[in-house]
Amino acid sequence: MSKIPPHIIDEIMQTSRIEEVIGEFVHLKRAGSNLKGLSPFTDEKTPSFVVSPAKQIFKCFSTSKGGTVVSFLMEKEHFSYPEALRWLADKYGIQIPEEAPATAEQLAAISERESLHIINEFAKDHFFKNLHDTEEGKAVALSYFVERGFRKDIIEKFQLGYCLNTGDDFTKAAQEKGYKLEYLEKVGLVKTKEDRHFDFFRGRVMFPIQSVSGRVLGFGGRTLFTDKKIAKYFNSPESIIYNKSEILYGLYLSKGDIIKYDNCFLCEGYTDVISMYQAGIQNVVSSSGTSLTKDQIKLVRRYTQNITILYDGDAAGIKASFRGIDLILEEGMNVKVVLFPEGEDPDSFSKRVSTSELETYIKEHTQDFISFKSDILLKDGEVDPIKRAELIKEVVHSVSLIPDQITRTVYLQKIAQQFEISEQIVSSELMKLRRNVVAKTSGEQEIRELPVENPTETVIPQRTSFHEERISANEFDLIRIMVRYGARVLEVDHLNEEGKNVRAETTVMELVHHELDKDELNFTTPLYNRIYQLLSEGLSQNELYSASYLKRLEDQEIVGFVSDLESRDLELSAQWLNKYNIVTRSESDRLQELVLNTIYSFKAAKIEERITGIRTKLEKASELEETELMDLLAEQMAYERIKIVLSEKLGRIIIR
Ligand code: ATP
Ligand code: MN
Repeated sequence: MSKIPPHIIDEIMQTSRIEEVIGEFVHLKRAGSNLKGLSPFTDEKTPSFVVSPAKQIFKCFSTSKGGTVVSFLMEKEHFSYPEALRWLADKYGIQIPEEAPATAEQLAAISERESLHIINEFAKDHFFKNLHDTEEGKAVALSYFVERGFRKDIIEKFQLGYCLNTGDDFTKAAQEKGYKLEYLEKVGLVKTKEDRHFDFFRGRVMFPIQSVSGRVLGFGGRTLFTDKKIAKYFNSPESIIYNKSEILYGLYLSKGDIIKYDNCFLCEGYTDVISMYQAGIQNVVSSSGTSLTKDQIKLVRRYTQNITILYDGDAAGIKASFRGIDLILEEGMNVKVVLFPEGEDPDSFSKRVSTSELETYIKEHTQDFISFKSDILLKDGEVDPIKRAELIKEVVHSVSLIPDQITRTVYLQKIAQQFEISEQIVSSELMKLRRNVVAKTSGEQEIRELPVENPTETVIPQRTSFHEERISANEFDLIRIMVRYGARVLEVDHLNEEGKNVRAETTVMELVHHELDKDELNFTTPLYNRIYQLLSEGLSQNELYSASYLKRLEDQEIVGFVSDLESRDLELSAQWLNKYNIVTRSESDRLQELVLNTIYSFKAAKIEERITGIRTKLEKASELEETELMDLLAEQMAYERIKIVLSEKLGRIIIR
């Protein structure tokens, strides 16, 4: 897809109303000049999520996420930057000019993809109408869903439908619409036999399978006949838009709750997802029709690191499904397991019990994969030592797939405890297997000795020093001044070419840039440095970038930072001015002193840092050559002098 031109980005940002967009996801209530609601990012009970229509920003005080309408969509829907912009353009009817595809082949590919999407969308609507508006649909299909206990709102939410059993009802409707037979066959909705065209899914209830952003990619269809010779489920064939190993059923609806609860329940099929969702457990997906694939796991990883697999109580294939557990571990994710009672699947069980019973059952029966595997493999009372050894190896094998060493070590200890054997033995088995894993993943590379896994190794967290904190506080102040007041004009004294002191006008941004440039100072905090570089580039092109310019950038860390600065004012003015009715000289009134003060404090902190550096070196004076020592002392004295000049300047300015 082509790049969105900057003027269109501007138009999208100016037209979008953050309160309208967020209102689609969060129930917002007026609170003063702002709107408030429950954060969509956490499971909170008291609202701490604030939207400012005036500033067009949001702030979530529980998670400290904040930003523009684009940041919200990226955060909530996990859109990329262009995806969020396109979503908004679509909502507000803004045309994004598309660059013409370079070749006829590309054009054909785009139009084929688009056509397949359009056909699937049409089919979904057609099947949905059949279910509600035709006699056959109501009599056999809708009544089937109702009998299964699916609520009306849920049928609508999942867009369930029905393909009539007449044979070619859909084929005819689609051809009347002018859809090409070739495309209808490609998405697998129409089959042809000896020149006769008919509906592939005839007589089946339909489960549309949606992409992460809600487009219909394919269908699952369940027969309503009980004839054992008819396959219970049909699925769409693979096509350029339907690659079943990269799709998870239900993810479009569940991704919000997966993020919110930081966990994804994984079950077998369509009906399990729908029933769990109806029962109120909405962070649920299924890999219907295939065993779990690596790509599907990667899809989940966009939203959470945690997967809980829900298994049927009598699934013959549980042992085979161990592969799924290993795949998840291999991706570096955490896997837990819930086994349902004998003869129940998530669908049947959630229908039989209340939501709170279901929740309790899941809570009480969630196991880590080690105990799950051992429970399955080692039936009660099994004490055969050979079997036991095999089991331990089997479990250690799974652990060996985990990429992170600390996590491996934790599981290693657990295995040792559970099977009452020494950690040393588990550890050496683990090392043996790890070599294979590393050898496998690093291809031809020859593997030499690997470091011994040390179960007692601990990690020492890095501490930030006092100086680092001071530097970053000063850097923050200075960046804030540039972002908030960069374009404001100040009068400053300076020496002209003839050495005379003259007054001159300058913008805040130019002044700061000049002062930092002069002393070759920079920002050490990466985010601040990125902002400073951007603003400096602007200056070199005679542009003063405003806060609203920064808020349109793709870099959401910058957008979040700038929005945060604005929501900070929001709080302050409300707190101080409204609550206590205090009249203060506002920050912008004393801009001159504020700017100079901030620049000098910034410099003072940087110099302090250098002096400290020199002192550290001087402490090891005995190791230094004499000339080195003298240089250091001279440098130190120079900095001390600058420090004095700076603090004099600061002393004159600070009038607090
Ligand atoms: P029943 O009413 O007999 O329980 P069901 O529709 O609930 O039938 P199950 O056989 O219980 O289906 O299977 C549970 C899930 O497994 C289904 O929701 C479906 O998504 C999936 N499934 C079963 N068979 C297939 C298949 N052949 N292809 C794809 N998915 C299937
Ligand atoms: Mn079933």
